[in-house]
Amino acid sequence: MQQNIYLLGAPGAGKGTQAQLLSEKLGIPQLSTGEMLRSARLEGSELGSRVAAIMDAGKLVSDGIVIELVEHRLARADHQDGVILDGFPRTIPQAEALDALFARTGRSALKVIAVDVPADEIRRRLQGRRWCTRCKKTYHITDNPPPPGQSCEGGGTCLLELRSDDKPEAVEKRLQTYADQTAPLLAHYRAKGTFFSVNGMGKIGDIFSAVMACILA
Ligand code: ADP
Ligand code: ADP
Repeated sequence: MQQNIYLLGAPGAGKGTQAQLLSEKLGIPQLSTGEMLRSARLEGSELGSRVAAIMDAGKLVSDGIVIELVEHRLARADHQDGVILDGFPRTIPQAEALDALFARTGRSALKVIAVDVPADEIRRRLQGRRWCTRCKKTYHITDNPPPPGQSCEGGGTCLLELRSDDKPEAVEKRLQTYADQTAPLLAHYRAKGTFFSVNGMGKIGDIFSAVMACILA
């Protein structure tokens, strides 16, 4: 059966980390709009240059841009057994566009898992977050470093960098953007479909067990 899972939570809640683990466990792809946009920036594409300043200011890219990216990606043959959405939808219009797309393409209903982490822990996590500009994986300098001796999928060792939107001023703006534009999705999804909530505090492996329990419920 097709499995469509959506991880909802503030920046730094651990959505990407859990999505990566779920993707490996379930054998279905992770779809991260943030990663798609960062890749566009690294490639220096026209889209990348259009969104760079918006992302670094901690604001959301326009609904039209991300909906188009997701629509294209979901049409791919390797996304027909299901998908793990991470960072999309982020606004009510995006959620409505996704609902319409799912209805049009006959996808199974979305399973929504909200990951809850307090703002102080989010600030701590984002300060220590590093991403590899070669393999695009995310780590944390103390809590989740690349395993010693592990080679980067892009070859050699990971090239770890602080994301330009993980600087403290941008983080504060992103927390505000989340509260204003994304948090309303909690009520939107609680009222319809399958909605679960997990405590995002604790060890990555324990949170993964809680997320898996929702999926198997
Ligand atoms: P985080 O990991 O902190 O939750 P993401 O990697 O998901 O952040 O996204 C990084 C940035 O990319 C966002 O702050 C926003 O500017 C842009 N972005 C990602 N997904 C979306 C989306 N669904 N709608 C609008 N902007 C998005
Ligand atoms: P999101 O995709 O929601 O923005 P990430 O998965 O990128 O969040 O996680 C944010 C940062 O916190 C990363 O540096 C990640 O390695 C780290 N992290 C994720 N889960 C945990 C956890 N349970 N405990 C401590 N650090 C975590």
